[in-house]
This record gives sequence, structure tokens and C-alpha cells, in this order.
Amino acid sequence: MQSELMHLSDVSLAYHTVAGETTAIQNLDLTVYEGEFLAIVGPSGCGKTTVLSLIMGLLEPTAGSVRLAREHLRLGYMLQRDHLLDHRTVEKNVLLGLEVQHRLTEESRARAMALLDTYGLGEFRSFRPQQLSGGMRQKVALIRTLALEPDLLLLDEPFSALDYQTRLNLSDEVYRIIRKEHKSAILVTHDISEAVSMADRVAVFSARPARLKALIGIGFPAGLSPLERRRQPAFHDYFDRIWKELQP
Ligand code: ADP
Ligand code: MG
Repeated sequence: MQSELMHLSDVSLAYHTVAGETTAIQNLDLTVYEGEFLAIVGPSGCGKTTVLSLIMGLLEPTAGSVRLAREHLRLGYMLQRDHLLDHRTVEKNVLLGLEVQHRLTEESRARAMALLDTYGLGEFRSFRPQQLSGGMRQKVALIRTLALEPDLLLLDEPFSALDYQTRLNLSDEVYRIIRKEHKSAILVTHDISEAVSMADRVAVFSARPARLKALIGIGFPAGLSPLERRRQPAFHDYFDRIWKELQP
């Protein structure tokens, strides 16, 4: 039996604004297990980012509860925009999170630099972010997050600002890094193919308010990369199933 890392129990969330009340999430039950890669797909504006905000504790559920397996579960983020600081070098960007959290030691610095080396960015450590391609910048952002040794990675449409070719290549690399570092992850995306190519399970959300329409286990032979998964005949079956679930 896999152990639970995070559990949303009958969660609802309503935003209150001057214009009135917007129910973003309704009666959502969702579990993430240790070591798994869960994708959440749903139409734009359905409430995917809201779910991540609830997990991060930035929002309190209007009803229901969010339970983390450990009190000090470390969360890491990778967002659509990389939020790198242009006046800092790649190295200093990667160390930023450690600095802010007062966790920069000889050891944590060495580990962060080793991550840069392992994932092909070692020779760019004195570069500035604006000297890098969009895909490389996103990789730097991921390494900055990994340097903090998160237990659970929250990826909010991290590839959607990139061109198609870069998106395919980077998702392959990010997948490899997450697996190699034995991380658990939640990937939020509106891209069905991206979800099927990376996840162990796909949660399909309805249009707003987000409800769980289906939870689909993705069963490819272990060790296939996202690009290899895309070439499997079963890939299209999963795509079609999720496509149908997404229809209103
Ligand atoms: P997604 O990430 O799936 O595109 P979001 O979770 O960002 O969707 O938003 C879900 C819904 O909640 C949208 O209709 C959005 O307009 C609304 N919403 C998001 N954030 C706020 C907020 N801070 N105040 C009011 N409404 C919000
Ligand atoms: Mg969003």
C-alpha cells in the first residue's frame, strides 16, 4: 500500500469579490501518494491553480480540509513564469531560495551546484538569465526549487509559455530529473498530451466550479520517457478517454 503524501477531503472554495461570490472548487476529494506523479487537467479557469494554492496553504478551504502527511512537508514550485532575477547570475539565482530560508551552507551550496552540473547547466553558472533560452531558464528555476529538497513539487503549467519543440524537450528533461531525484509531483496543465506523457495518474476536472470528473491510471512500461510514451499506441487511447471526459 502506498503512503499518502497529501489529501484533499471534500474541499470547496469560493472567492468573494465586490462582484459577488465565485465558486472555484466544489466537493473535491483527491489524494497524492508518495513517489507518484499526478497530473490535473481541466479547461482554463476551472480552478487548477486554486487547488495548488489550497495545498500551499495560501488559501483556506471554504469547506472540507487539506491534510499533509507531515507537519513540515516541504513544497516546491515550478510556475509558468520562471521568476528568475535578472541582476543575479544563474548560480546566485539557484542559491536564492536557500538564502531566503537561511539554509545556505557549504553542503547545501555544493548540492545545488552538483544539480547544475548533473543537469547540464554547470558551464552557465556565471551567466545572467537573459543570456539563456526560455527552456534553460525554466530548468534553472526547477533546480532552484530542487536545491530546497522539496517533498512534493507543484508544477503549474510550467511549459505553457514555451514554443512547442522546447516544451517537448523540456518536459522530457524535467520528467527525467523528477524521477531521478525521486520526487512526488503534481502537474497542472490544460494540455492532455502533456499529462498522458508524464503522469502516473490523471485527474480530470470539470469546468468551473472544478469537480473531479475522472481519475485515470496511466499504465506505460516503466522507464519510458515522455517522448517515448507519445509514440506508444496506448497514448492515443488515453488521450481520447481524457478528451471525452473533458467534454461538457
Ligand atoms: P485555472 O488555474 O484552472 O485556469 P484558477 O484556479 O486560476 O483557474 O481560477 C478559477 C476561477 O476562480 C476563475 O474563474 C478565476 O477567475 C477565479 N479566481 C481565481 N483567483 C481569484 C481571486 N483571487 N479572486 C476572485 N476570483 C478568482
Ligand atoms: Mg492556472
